[in-house]
Amino acid sequence: MNDCLPTESPLWQKVEGVVKDVISAYGCSEIRMPIVEMTHLFCRAIGEVTDVVEKEMYTFDDRNGDSLTLRPEGTAGCVRAGIEKGLLYNQEQRLWYMGPMFRHERPQKGRYRQFHQCGVEMFGLNGPDVDAELILMTARMWRELGIDQHVRLELNSIGSLEARAEYRSALVAFLEQHESVLDDDCKRRMHTNPLRVLDTKNPDIQAILVDAPELTDYLDDDSKEHFAGLCELLNASGIEYTVNPRLVRGLDYYNKTVFEWVTESLGAQGTVCAGGRYDGLVEQLGGKATPAVGFAMGLERLVLMVTSLETTEIRNPVDVYVVTAGEGTMVTGMKLAEHVRSAVPGVRVMNNFGGGNFKKQFKRADKVGAAIALVLGENEVSEQTVVLKDLAGGTQETINQSDISDRLTHFFKS
Ligand code: ATP
Ligand code: MG
Repeated sequence: MNDCLPTESPLWQKVEGVVKDVISAYGCSEIRMPIVEMTHLFCRAIGEVTDVVEKEMYTFDDRNGDSLTLRPEGTAGCVRAGIEKGLLYNQEQRLWYMGPMFRHERPQKGRYRQFHQCGVEMFGLNGPDVDAELILMTARMWRELGIDQHVRLELNSIGSLEARAEYRSALVAFLEQHESVLDDDCKRRMHTNPLRVLDTKNPDIQAILVDAPELTDYLDDDSKEHFAGLCELLNASGIEYTVNPRLVRGLDYYNKTVFEWVTESLGAQGTVCAGGRYDGLVEQLGGKATPAVGFAMGLERLVLMVTSLETTEIRNPVDVYVVTAGEGTMVTGMKLAEHVRSAVPGVRVMNNFGGGNFKKQFKRADKVGAAIALVLGENEVSEQTVVLKDLAGGTQETINQSDISDRLTHFFKS
């Protein structure tokens, strides 16, 4: 679990800002869910036989003896809230959330125990048009973050529940032939949840799976048509993708469309964004049957990518530094700073605290990256003036305190 230090937070704010702006451009509304939910919500939603539920959840009993879990992802809580608060019945919802998620995994680059996801969930819409728009939305984010050249889209359809049941028998038959070479996880999953075997990270088993039967050959007509519709929309929008017939996703609730945005630039942790359709989940969690599709992206991985590409210029935290020296200058300095904050929207003003001579104070102003210093000595205070120093240009002039907001507004506009 990481601290986000002051040197790192500007990059996070930038990534979060871009992501939020893009999401708003598609008319989505924010929902904020609690970080803790009843454990059984995740077991039911994500599936008992998944990495997340089997080994990654932070679960504990509270003082009433209820089993609670720190949320490992956002979809389950979002659907729970939607059902509980009547957001999903007979209406459509386009929602997004952002926040910390918790999984007890082995920490490594791009994989942490507290990480942050931003997710978008669309409810009540069943066409491939919505699936396509989610992909367009993410593609726009990559462009705005400057990482579009470094991610690619993988796409698949995992069909209906029934189609998967049929495929499942074929897959189990194949896996049984190779049982001796499977690892323990896969052997167990072969009987409990064989599709999950396709999701293995073990390269030896991945090599065997090359010859496994493909889900694509078992798809139901409805899913085939949906997938064709999605591909057509993506083609028309100029979105490039690869159909990966082995893409199944790590969580149980998906059907039809599944997609992942992957990158080669983060080593093993290559998936930056993953999503798909989950038409059965709302009903499974006790609501009325409601079509749904969504995605979640890992913000740490995006921040890592943006950092390594150095595409972003990070803004200094201060615009104006108030330098004061002499009897009574501090009071005037603080009042002037408050006046500037009110009168010049968006300007960031820092007072010098802890004294120091002019030289020392100008050094501090440079250190925080201020563009302007407002300098007050005893003369300025008695004459109600202030010295305005352009720290980059090196020029300075004395002006009336009453003109300060006009001057600064003008300076920061140009
Ligand atoms: P992976 O295959 O990398 O384990 P996943 O299938 O478990 O990913 P999802 O549950 O689909 O991941 O979560 C969506 C996204 O959240 C991932 O694509 C990734 O960007 C991010 N993510 C998931 N787990 C972590 C983690 N432990 N640390 C940082 N980011 C994560
Ligand atoms: Mg995982």
